[in-house]
Amino acid sequence: MPELPEVEVLVCHLRPLIRDRTIQGVDVRRAKVLAPTTTRELKRVLLGARFTGVSRRGKYLLFQLRPRRGKMPVTLLGHLGMTGRIFLARCLEPGPKHAAVVFHLGREKLVYEDTRCFGRLTLDTTAVKKLGPEPLDASFNAEKFAQTLKRSVQPIKVRLLDQTLVAGIGNIYASEALFRAGISPKLPARGLTPARVNRLRRAIRRVLREAIDCGSTAPLNYGGSGERDGLFYFGRAAGTPDFYEERLRVYDRAGKSCPKCGARIKRIVQAARSTFYCPDCQR
Ligand SMILES: [Zn+2]
Repeated sequence: MPELPEVEVLVCHLRPLIRDRTIQGVDVRRAKVLAPTTTRELKRVLLGARFTGVSRRGKYLLFQLRPRRGKMPVTLLGHLGMTGRIFLARCLEPGPKHAAVVFHLGREKLVYEDTRCFGRLTLDTTAVKKLGPEPLDASFNAEKFAQTLKRSVQPIKVRLLDQTLVAGIGNIYASEALFRAGISPKLPARGLTPARVNRLRRAIRRVLREAIDCGSTAPLNYGGSGERDGLFYFGRAAGTPDFYEERLRVYDRAGKSCPKCGARIKRIVQAARSTFYCPDCQR
């Protein structure tokens, strides 16, 4: 599932490809992903509109557009959910079977594909107003982070998934950050000392930055889809090494040895999600 780094990499790839492109046609095949926007409203607002930019907030993509005839700029919000992908394809290429929305941009089309339809592409941007600070910004400071954690008895791993605490962290990077910080995922959030909160904050920033760097250098094939596609949101050229998997130290490595101490990595279930950790390194 795409988290902050994957969305950041996607945004950086898409930005130069869609800038100044005009939407000449809108094809909605799964109206569910637009909710509460209707197909009719989406077409009314976006037909003839020009992309001026795309940015990221948490795990959301924010497309900025200028509608025709000098109306106020609009924002189109995207969320990839579990299986969503957004990519450019040549117009002549047959669209993927699960294309939910297609924007025709002349010779190319911007495709939003979602096999399970848990993602969104909508003009309703209220979701971003509820988000906590961006972990890579200065607004994510140790003092505020510690204050919020003090109010919770939830295990720290579960707490990190709350997008109002800090935006963009999902199941993968929550496990990875706790491993880097040497903190047990089971520890109640309010039991963390100030020194450990600060260590966790730094670990979060480090794992996210490393993942962005890794994704930015991986060979991508934005229309393609590999068999085991770590960068599935964009597609990875067939036969290229899986950078993404190699980078992870505990996530999805149950039973394998810890890269720090050699102990066996454990998998537990917290709030119905898998957590991976080293019982020796993380206390
Ligand atoms: Zn270990």
